[in-house]
Amino acid sequence: MFRTRLCLLFVALTISVNAFAATKAIKFGKLWDGHKVISNAVVIVDDDKITSVTPNGKIPAGAQVIDMSRYTGIPGMIDAHTHMTYYWDGAPGTTPRSRPAKPRHVAATVFLSQENARKTLEAGVTSIRDLNAGGGADYAMRDLINMGKMVGPRMFVSGGGLRSYKNQPGVTDPLAEAAKMVKTRFEEGADWIKVFGSVGGFDNVNMDQTVSYEEMKAMVDATHAAGHRIAIHSYGPDGARDAIRAGTDTLEHATDMDDATIEMMAKNKVWYVPTIDHNQYYVENADDVYKFPAGAKENLNSYIKRNFETAKKAFKAGARLIPGSDAVYNGFGLNMRELTWFVKLGMTNEQAMQSATTQAAEMLGMEKSLGSLAPGYFADIVALEGDPLADINVAVKGVRWVMKGGNVVVDKTRASRTQ
Ligand SMILES: [Zn+2]
Repeated sequence: MFRTRLCLLFVALTISVNAFAATKAIKFGKLWDGHKVISNAVVIVDDDKITSVTPNGKIPAGAQVIDMSRYTGIPGMIDAHTHMTYYWDGAPGTTPRSRPAKPRHVAATVFLSQENARKTLEAGVTSIRDLNAGGGADYAMRDLINMGKMVGPRMFVSGGGLRSYKNQPGVTDPLAEAAKMVKTRFEEGADWIKVFGSVGGFDNVNMDQTVSYEEMKAMVDATHAAGHRIAIHSYGPDGARDAIRAGTDTLEHATDMDDATIEMMAKNKVWYVPTIDHNQYYVENADDVYKFPAGAKENLNSYIKRNFETAKKAFKAGARLIPGSDAVYNGFGLNMRELTWFVKLGMTNEQAMQSATTQAAEMLGMEKSLGSLAPGYFADIVALEGDPLADINVAVKGVRWVMKGGNVVVDKTRASRTQ
């Protein structure tokens, strides 16, 4: 007993001594690098990057050894659609949308949203694309996280989502205004452009298009001219068709697309982020949290069913699907539940895992530094209890440890170690 304690003390001291070693060697019993499985893998990390991934690899002298041999290692996952700055404190008598009663200062929003960022990391998500935030809260979070002053996933952000400029007071040329607003977003610091191409959101599953093809085209062209990418939200098929015709890079939500639209989406290699689970989250929280009106759950369930069928058709037609949680308020931590829908609609577990890693990295234009575990990539690594290639729920609920850029940001392995 006493000897065990001494031994534990020694281990603790060893860990603390090497905690700042620049070189880390992480041992996994099984590792899926984004493409294949490697048994007894050793991942060597220098500062924030991976330098090697080898079976039974040598451990450099002086390296800090992190023993994850009872876990499966995977690349940090990517959530393609979040709302990190939508924060709710859960105060009794309030709903997420009725709180705060008065507008909160953006600095407070940034501070409070750290909780969403932390829960996202705990879900094994080390990168996110955030699509719509007010007052520059998303720019601030991204920058603070990149500076190492805030703990959170890498953020690729859009600033405020753009809408139609037709019939806006003072706007005489809506197409010129649309292009100007795109430029403005990039001047502010946006990485992406988000367009609300239809109504729909929360308990509202109305699918009406709100941005014309011409306006979408003006925004797409201005985005591409600036060397960036654009995401267009459309709940319904009309906005989806026009978004694809206009040349969007990613299409968000879209339900009830016809075969011709789906075919065009696959042919043009538009990434489709169906966000199916997002409405399931609303169904689960409709009464207790959101206090949606009567009938809301029925509408949401009908939408989910059609959303799923559309996504299934799209996958069969060869479209590239990417998981986006559309997480808001208390939805953080469930980020990867979308993968269970992807498997249900016909993906193999490995295809689903690739949609959240290698494919999502390509969608971000970051395929050379994110989404895979290989030399030169960021050391964004997740340890899972179980094998996600055998059971997709492992990727959702089995996250035990997360490294981001070479730093351990989540560690739930200690409790199991002492048993
Ligand atoms: Zn959204």
